[in-house]
Amino acid sequence: MIFDTLIIGGGVSGMQCALVLGSGMKKPFASDKNVGIIIHQRSSHLQNALFNNVLGLPSGTLGADILASGKRQIAENYPEILQLEKEKVTAIARDSDLYKVTTNKCEYHTKIVVLALNYANPFTIQGLASFLEPHKRANASKNRIQLKHQDYLVKEGLYVCGTLAGVRSQYAIAAGSGASVATDILTLWNNGVHTKIHDKL
Ligand SMILES: Cc1cc2nc3c(=O)[nH]c(=O)nc-3n(C[C@H](O)[C@H](O)[C@H](O)COP(=O)(O)OP(=O)(O)OC[C@H]3O[C@@H](n4cnc5c(N)ncnc54)[C@H](O)[C@@H]3O)c2cc1C
Repeated sequence: MIFDTLIIGGGVSGMQCALVLGSGMKKPFASDKNVGIIIHQRSSHLQNALFNNVLGLPSGTLGADILASGKRQIAENYPEILQLEKEKVTAIARDSDLYKVTTNKCEYHTKIVVLALNYANPFTIQGLASFLEPHKRANASKNRIQLKHQDYLVKEGLYVCGTLAGVRSQYAIAAGSGASVATDILTLWNNGVHTKIHDKL
């Protein structure tokens, strides 16, 4: 199977991107799209986090609980999104019109890649070294990194979101970047007509 979009990373920005993309897949222009998420979570910053300052999250919410509930929310609301568990991406390469995403277990082909990773250094995915630069909104002594991009687009078909996109490390900001990329992809699929997805009573 060739994916239309493959999200890499199962933390805040990746799961938020998946939720917004999933909600758009009921639209006719997106209903035939294949979307997957490599939902690796071991190195998520959510693992040890505790939240009191995120709108809508009850005070004291554990990041570890969001990791589990986020996967359930995607599966229950948008079962058409394929969740690929326990795989870590090792390389990304252009393969004619597609991207080849290599993991420690197999290879996938996709038209669009969303890199939803955090700003941890070193960055171990091969094929993107030319886009790496020091993080612009983190304490320089921590040596965090980001990818160069324009409005989250690194190059055609390759998006970045989350703290790897250079945003500050706050839950709401990371989530917003994932949602932003999802709406950009939906807009692309909708022939450039600006698209957002709202449910209402
Ligand atoms: C201890 C702690 C406390 C915090 N407290 C707060 C707080 O109170 N309020 C607040 O707003 N923010 C808080 N934060 C910040 C918040 O958790 C982060 O801003 C947010 O998690 C960043 O989201 P992200 O998507 O960039 O990265 P992450 O959530 O870390 O997600 C990145 C994902 O990429 C995956 N990944 C990495 N490498 C690969 C690979 N090669 N292949 C596949 N997947 C990969 C990881 O496993 C992970 O799931 C806290 C962070 C920490 C560490």
